[in-house]
Amino acid sequence: FVHQLADESVGMQQLLVSPLWLEREAALPLPPQLYGASRRNSEGVDLTVESMRAPLLAAYETTRVPTVPLADVASVGDAVARALAAGRHWSRAPVERRAAILRKAADAMQTQLPQLCALLVKEAFKTWGDAVSEVREAIDFLRYYADEAQRLMQPLALAGPTGESNELRLTARGAWVCISPWNFPLAIFTGQVAAALATGNSVLAKPADQTPAIAAEAVRLLHAAGVPADALQLLHGPGETVGAALVAQPGIAGVVFTGSTQVARIIHRALAAKDGPIVPLIAETGGINAMLVDSTALPEQVADAVVQSAFRSAGQRCSALRLLCLHEGIADTVTGMLAGAVRELVIGDPALLATDVGPVIDREAWEGIARQVERLQRTATDRHPGLEPGSMPLHAGVPMPDQARHDGRFFIPPQIFEVASIAEVQQEIFGPVLHVVRWSGDPAAVIDQINALGYGLTLGIQTRIDSRAQALAARAHVGNVYVNRNIIGAVVGVQPFGGEGLSGTGPKAGGPYYLQRFCAEQTLTINT
Ligand code: NAP
Repeated sequence: FVHQLADESVGMQQLLVSPLWLEREAALPLPPQLYGASRRNSEGVDLTVESMRAPLLAAYETTRVPTVPLADVASVGDAVARALAAGRHWSRAPVERRAAILRKAADAMQTQLPQLCALLVKEAFKTWGDAVSEVREAIDFLRYYADEAQRLMQPLALAGPTGESNELRLTARGAWVCISPWNFPLAIFTGQVAAALATGNSVLAKPADQTPAIAAEAVRLLHAAGVPADALQLLHGPGETVGAALVAQPGIAGVVFTGSTQVARIIHRALAAKDGPIVPLIAETGGINAMLVDSTALPEQVADAVVQSAFRSAGQRCSALRLLCLHEGIADTVTGMLAGAVRELVIGDPALLATDVGPVIDREAWEGIARQVERLQRTATDRHPGLEPGSMPLHAGVPMPDQARHDGRFFIPPQIFEVASIAEVQQEIFGPVLHVVRWSGDPAAVIDQINALGYGLTLGIQTRIDSRAQALAARAHVGNVYVNRNIIGAVVGVQPFGGEGLSGTGPKAGGPYYLQRFCAEQTLTINT
């Protein structure tokens, strides 16, 4: 039977697998220790858009996006000096105290959830669903790293010869520079900062230029919870000036960066060019994330997972789906469903609860994506003269509007383009643009072509052959593999997140090995 399935000739209708398993997620209780526990408030009520509708809309009415003071590049050196001095005290505080402060900040975020969501909707144009998920993720990072620091920073006794005691312990490195992107301006910002602080480091945080206010609010809550002002300093300003100046500072102990692969390279080079100690870089970057679908996959499940993965957050997630690899035997069914599903998406004002796809972050992003869409449209019509925008199967999605700018916001309707080969997809388009390619033959060869793109962040596999899913996952050079579901929304402590190759240096945010990268290790041997 399995051999028959492995031969792609078996159609969906011949599979004897009950679709009831699709219900399992709803049926199973959540384990109490699950991070993402921030999805419930202290009374155990689920924090969803539906359950919080009234407070969210009330917060939207009263929330304003404040302006922030820009950092002066000339004063960056002073900021580092203050961070180093404050770090000496902060690192000596018992880890339990630091953890308690982070938990207090998490509680404050939970209390402030509607206001934080409103700020995310207004400043970063998040939909309400995305905003609630993001605040919960930030809370999870604070709690998870508090717990992890307490676990990891205990001395580890090691066996040695009689008359000698040996232990290994983790210590803070010093002042970390945390540079974050606009697409998760609260969760990623908070995650970086919390990891460095939990391990006793001080922090110089440079948030993205587009989203400074939400970062300022996170810092305000951390300071109010007890993080000393100089141990966590916020420096607003352009990456090319303020960010670069921070990276160039002689005293810094490490840089944690989340953003594009191009900027990661710039920072990597700048660090390598410095004299003095070698400064570690943790880089979490972009991806050309693929989903491989074989002929045994459930088309409805595939269509739902693709729409979520490619178009939620207007495709502005590093984990988002960029490349859908459909087996010939199922391709027409899936593309037909996708074309229908995309037409149903509500594109518009993120403040409206019904909106599925909000605007992209700004004009510059819009122009970059629109150029790529034009290129893909040209290629499609060159290959197939007479093809109308919006026609299937080669080009689906809502046609690009002539006037994309509404009320100061820039919209890209979801776009789907069929391309001739995986190798054609050479760059991350950071928006709601999906490439589709058909395959037949050996799925392992498809994984090899995906690997050859050089990125390695997320991968989806849709199959009902378990052994195939396992084998393909093992073959893929990616950080996060998702089988028979969407490929976004990694949960802290449950799906540690991060990539390899062009997608980053590796340690996984929200995972058990992440905090070690912020620490130095010391072995203490005592002749007793
Ligand atoms: P970006 O342009 O690389 O910017 C990221 C951060 O780097 C911003 O704070 C930026 O400041 C700063 N920066 C720019 N040039 C710099 C320089 N020379 N020195 C120091 N800092 C500098 O990325 P983005 O457009 O904000 O974010 C989108 C990208 O992030 C996508 O590629 C996405 O895939 C990736 N991403 C990856 C992950 C992950 O976990 N792997 C998560 C989220 C996003 P300014 O804002 O002032 O330019």
